[in-house]
Amino acid sequence: MASETKRRSILGTLGLVAALAGGGGEAQDPYAREREAMLKEIEAMARDTGEETGRAVFSAGVMAAMARVPRQRFVPMSYAALAYANRPLPIGHGQTISQPYIVALMTELLDIDAGDTVLEIGTGSGYQAAVLAELTRHVYSIEIIEPVGKRAAALLSQLGYKNISTRIGDGYNGWPEHAPFDAIIVTAAAPQVPPALVTQLKPGGRMVIPVGADGEVQFLHVMVKQLDGTISTRRSLPVRFVPLTRSD
Ligand code: SAH
Repeated sequence: MASETKRRSILGTLGLVAALAGGGGEAQDPYAREREAMLKEIEAMARDTGEETGRAVFSAGVMAAMARVPRQRFVPMSYAALAYANRPLPIGHGQTISQPYIVALMTELLDIDAGDTVLEIGTGSGYQAAVLAELTRHVYSIEIIEPVGKRAAALLSQLGYKNISTRIGDGYNGWPEHAPFDAIIVTAAAPQVPPALVTQLKPGGRMVIPVGADGEVQFLHVMVKQLDGTISTRRSLPVRFVPLTRSD
């Protein structure tokens, strides 16, 4: 009798520990339902925009990555309740974490393979980098605002992402030491595509970048470097990103 009571209380304690750690499956994950709803919204928006983007259905890999990354960890605590709303949120320093649908779309348009090396310009919260890291071998990500980049780097390492390298600096010139890249994603808008990024793209590689001058309509551009080095560009959706700033 006594030992039965003791066993129950040990099991009770273990259950509590699992709940506090956020482990033990969906029943203990307070965000599971919201994350599920976010995935459904992304799927619906993908269908609605499929004609413009050419991707009415996102790949299972991209959706699984969106399901795995705990978005609540990448938004300020005061916005935790909105972490899975399909909208961008402020992350401080005048910057934003992109809308989940846009993160999924840009990831989809990159056509990432498991062995790819990916460059991201604009680490921001680190969320997009984490989604990419779920899908590929290594992600390099550059952020120009030091405290923003440092916070993202700390969070990504806390979450156990070992395949993301971050750097503080101006991403306009890319990261030549690790070039060429299979895919490049720019998550801030530039009036023109930075030439160094085109140079650092592998033949056969893809780049997704919002293009548009400050205050003007921006469009997501999907560029493919052909094997002979020529570039083909497809204009996709109108978007709204913070500007790509320069350090000089
Ligand atoms: N990918 C981010 C969203 C970033 S918002 C996420 O998932 O949260 C765009 C970020 O680009 C901002 O943090 C901004 O500071 C950064 N940025 C702007 N210009 C830059 C530049 N020239 N080089 C690197 N980062 C830049």
